[in-house]
This record gives sequence, structure tokens and C-alpha cells, in this order.
Amino acid sequence: GQCANVCPVDSIMEKYEYLDVKREVQNSEKIVIVSTSPSVRAALGEEFGMPDGSFVQGKMVSLLRKLGVNYVLDTCFAADLTIVEEASELIERMTKKNAPLPQFTSCCPAWVKYVETYYPEMIPNLSSAKSPIGMQGPTIKTYFAEKKGIDPKSIVNVALTPCTAKKFEIRRDEMNASAHYLGVEGMRDMDYVITTRELAKWAKEEGIDFASLEDGEYDNFMGDASGAGIIFGNTGGVMEAALRTAYEFITKEKSPEQLFNLTPVRGYEGVKEATLKVGDLDVNIAVVYGTANAGKVIEGIKQGEKQYHFVEVMTCPGGCIGGGGQPKDIMKDKDEVRKARIASLYTRDEAMTLRRSHENPEIIHLYEEFYGKPLSELAEKMLHTSYEDKSEILNRKRDIKMSKWVCSI
Ligand code: SF4
Repeated sequence: GQCANVCPVDSIMEKYEYLDVKREVQNSEKIVIVSTSPSVRAALGEEFGMPDGSFVQGKMVSLLRKLGVNYVLDTCFAADLTIVEEASELIERMTKKNAPLPQFTSCCPAWVKYVETYYPEMIPNLSSAKSPIGMQGPTIKTYFAEKKGIDPKSIVNVALTPCTAKKFEIRRDEMNASAHYLGVEGMRDMDYVITTRELAKWAKEEGIDFASLEDGEYDNFMGDASGAGIIFGNTGGVMEAALRTAYEFITKEKSPEQLFNLTPVRGYEGVKEATLKVGDLDVNIAVVYGTANAGKVIEGIKQGEKQYHFVEVMTCPGGCIGGGGQPKDIMKDKDEVRKARIASLYTRDEAMTLRRSHENPEIIHLYEEFYGKPLSELAEKMLHTSYEDKSEILNRKRDIKMSKWVCSI
């Protein structure tokens, strides 16, 4: 039994957007583009009776085409872009000292919201780099649209994700860089988010036999990814991927073998720490999942007990492979399922020859033809963002509680 089938709360809480996407697919005036997050391909097969952690990238692409999607692109491409921007930002913080350390990753919207609400004083520590989905959206509506000769106004941008929190991330006010760039009022960078479970539901409703689909290929210009982009879905994966690039940017030498199986940050513990030699620098890192663990790490930093340079935080257990939109089977051991998905992404990375984000040829072209260089003026406008102190929400909640208490006496 899938939880969504037996648990009414799940279906009430999860807003199904795939029905909107289905409607857009049927509209011949729209060009529907789906970008797929790293973790979906390591879990979607579970919905169709395949072993846990089956790597089903090719079938997933074919499924989307069969459902009538016009282009299938890879959010792992944008994960490579995020790595390049975020590693460049880290180097600036460490060398120019233009912003505080440690730098926190910012690709998990639930973590970003946690900082904005509970630790607004740490907002300057959040990387200004948008998440992969946050970068994929505006790049499709500008660069990709131009390359393909598509009117950006006809594009319906859909992110296929393991994550229900991405549904609010794409609706943050500031996720409209393409509207500013193109001068089109009301345009959003990303229009819909559908989860792994929603896609499976849609496929089942259409009666598609997923297991028998042939392997399909992504479309070009934004469909190629490195192994570093793929492991973004695992806890520790963002860190490992970013260090492969940061190492080479700092030392101008090839990153060592150690960065292709970074054991201290792999594995399933909630907090992992390591110190790495990068040229003359000792880089202190931490990898965390779960907000309770993150709270402890922040307190350690604030008390001066811990001095890190770079901290990765993901809200879900095991990282995005354990996201709220992934298949759920109450009969299975959750941790074992998550470990199988983690292994699936690492195995894929190991099998690839392209394992460094900045060596992805499509990323190199994107910089040459559009963004110029990492942290350029255009990159800052389109690929970076800022955050807001939202601690006021806590005061409001406290006031409501107080007024209820006052009323009751
Ligand atoms: Fe979403 Fe969870 Fe990944 Fe955060 S860790 S981006 S909440 S799936």
C-alpha cells in the first residue's frame, strides 16, 4: 500500500498540480518543458514495483514524452550551474572576505525558510545562489528559448521534484528573473512543481506500462549533467560536488581521488564533519540533515565552538532522495529504502566520465554564450537571490497564543 492511497491526510495536504500540467499539455499553443530533479530517477521505479533505488532515468524521460511533454531537460544541468556559482561565491568569501563564513547551502527551501524564521541573524551566511530549480527556470525562458526559437511567453515550465516544499519556493516573489530580463509582466520563472508521486499517479491514470518503456534521452542545451550534478540529491552530495569544483578553481589543479568518494560526508548520519586540504587552505566542512540537527550546528557556530567554512543543510532524512514527494510504502523500512536511493545516485556518478560540474560542455557553452562568467552581472541578476527576515511570524504566533490565553481568563 502506498501511503497516499490509505492516508487521506496525505492527499489533502498534497496539492496536485499534475492536473494543471496535463491541461497545459493538451493546449497546442503551449510548449511544456519538464526539468527533472536528481532524486526522482532513483525512486520513481518503486511506484511501479521495481526494486528500491532502481535507476530509471531513461524510462522517466520516455514517460514524460509519452505523456505529451514537448521538451525534457535535466535539473542536474542546473545543479552543475549551482555548483559553479556557489563554489565561486565560497572562494570569494574565503579570499575577499566580502561576506561571513561559514557559507550555508541554500538549495533546500525548507532550510532557507527555517533560517529566515528562526535565525534571521544568519541570513548573510546563506549562499545567494538560487537552487537548481531556481536557476533552471529563468535560464530556460531566456537562453534555451532563444536557442530553440521559442516564444518564452508560450513556455510552461514544470519542475519534476522529490520535494513538496519546492511548490512554495517557485512562488516566492523574487522567482521572476525572466520577467525582468524579458520585460514581460507577470511571467514566472517556473510555473508548476509536480512530485515523483504525482507523476506516477498521472502515468497510472493513463495506463502506461512504465517498466516496459525504452530508455529515452534528454533534449540538448540544458539536458546534460555531470556526476556531480546527479549526487546533488544525496545528503553530502552538494558538498562533494562543490568541493570538486572549488578545489580546481582554487588550486588550478585536478581535484584528488578523495573528492570522488568523499567518505566523511557520505553515509547516513545527521551531522558529518571533515577538514580538507585545498591548496594551502584547511577547509572545515559540515553536512547536516534535519532542522533539529541544523539548529544544534548553528548554536555551536554562534557560541564560537565550531568554525566551519562551508555547511550543507538539507531538511529531509538522507537529503532530497528522502523528500516528501517521493514514493512512500508503509510496509517498507524507510531508512533501507533511502539508503538504496543514495547508493543508486552514487553508482551512477561512479559510472560517468564527466564528474565535475565546471567541465560539463553545456555549462561551458552557457557561460560562453550567455552568462559570461560565474558571478557576472547577469549571473547575479538571474541566478542569485536574497532572503528576508521572517521572524515576525513567530511574534505574531506568540501574540495569537497570548490573546487566546488572555481571552480564556
Ligand atoms: Fe525538498 Fe527535502 Fe530536498 Fe529540502 S531536502 S529540497 S525539503 S526534498
